[in-house]
Amino acid sequence: MQPTNSEKIKQEFKALRTRQLVAIGVTLALLLLIALLYNHTHILEGFAKNDILSAQILILCVFIGFSSYNWKCPSCNSYIGPDINRRICKHCGTRLR
Ligand SMILES: [Zn+2]
Repeated sequence: MQPTNSEKIKQEFKALRTRQLVAIGVTLALLLLIALLYNHTHILEGFAKNDILSAQILILCVFIGFSSYNWKCPSCNSYIGPDINRRICKHCGTRLR
């Protein structure tokens, strides 16, 4: 049986929401790890504290870039917004979950 359009949108949203949650987890883990290393710079001898800050900024930029690519409504392709638990697209009104 062919899935209906709204079922397909819900499946797509579920997949991109999973990717988004993984990206948030990985980003937070990396930022936390770097923050811990920041206080123990003897582990990263040869790296200036500025390099560590640059790495954090780079990670945030990669996350923002990934989110702007990934976190879009499967129906209208608009940015969904900061709410990870959104049920309805605020742009087109499509039911996402
Ligand atoms: Zn939409």
